[in-house]
Amino acid sequence: MPAEEVSAAIALRARDYSESDRIVTLLTREYGKLTGIAKGARKSRARFERKLEPFAHVMLYFRRRLNGQLVFITRAEAAELPQFRVDDDLARFALGSYMLELAEALTSEAADAAGAYAILTQALAALCRRSASPAIRQAYELKMLAWAGYGLEFARCRTCAAPTEAGDHQTYFVPAHGSVVCLRCRPTVTAAAVRIESRSAAALARLGAIELDSEAEASRADGALVIARFIAGVLDRRLRSVEFLDSVLSP
Ligand SMILES: [Zn+2]
Repeated sequence: MPAEEVSAAIALRARDYSESDRIVTLLTREYGKLTGIAKGARKSRARFERKLEPFAHVMLYFRRRLNGQLVFITRAEAAELPQFRVDDDLARFALGSYMLELAEALTSEAADAAGAYAILTQALAALCRRSASPAIRQAYELKMLAWAGYGLEFARCRTCAAPTEAGDHQTYFVPAHGSVVCLRCRPTVTAAAVRIESRSAAALARLGAIELDSEAEASRADGALVIARFIAGVLDRRLRSVEFLDSVLSP
């Protein structure tokens, strides 16, 4: 039998399976994203009670199976890990749920995701300390995209490197390049581009650069839409939690 392994992990999703089991997807610090079966989880309160619900931050003990994707989850303990309480506020719960879903969508099983685990941990901690805001959402999106290899450039024009200043002029986001170009360079770019206000681009540049728990102004709706569309393009679908989130937290 494979040896028991252990890692800190955040539960992303959980569902009942058969009469007594649960299937849980977690983002672990050590082993990337894992999906496992917790045998008897619906009955064994001592080993699993509430510890495998979404948002739970646990030390996860598991064994790999010789065949098959699912690991066997043997136990889960909250230990000394910080817990994320998001269910006392609708906007916080909506943004937290979206954070979990985006983390799941941008990671893959059996690939290192220590960076994504760190970003998710910081983002959930920031969300619990402060109220839900478009700024936290946008900062999280930019950092997760950067971790996944889609670092977006809003700070300067990709062509002439002129800095994006928060003025009244327009700038253009080019999804194919993941970066902005200035009004003057726009005619030299053949790829499709979306116009956004330079102040929105400047806000996104700042949010992408600062720590997740720092206070910063969010981009306006045009910048938020650019990121939302870029994410939908990367994933080739819309996340389930987006509509609910947009209905309780508008930019
Ligand atoms: Zn330029």
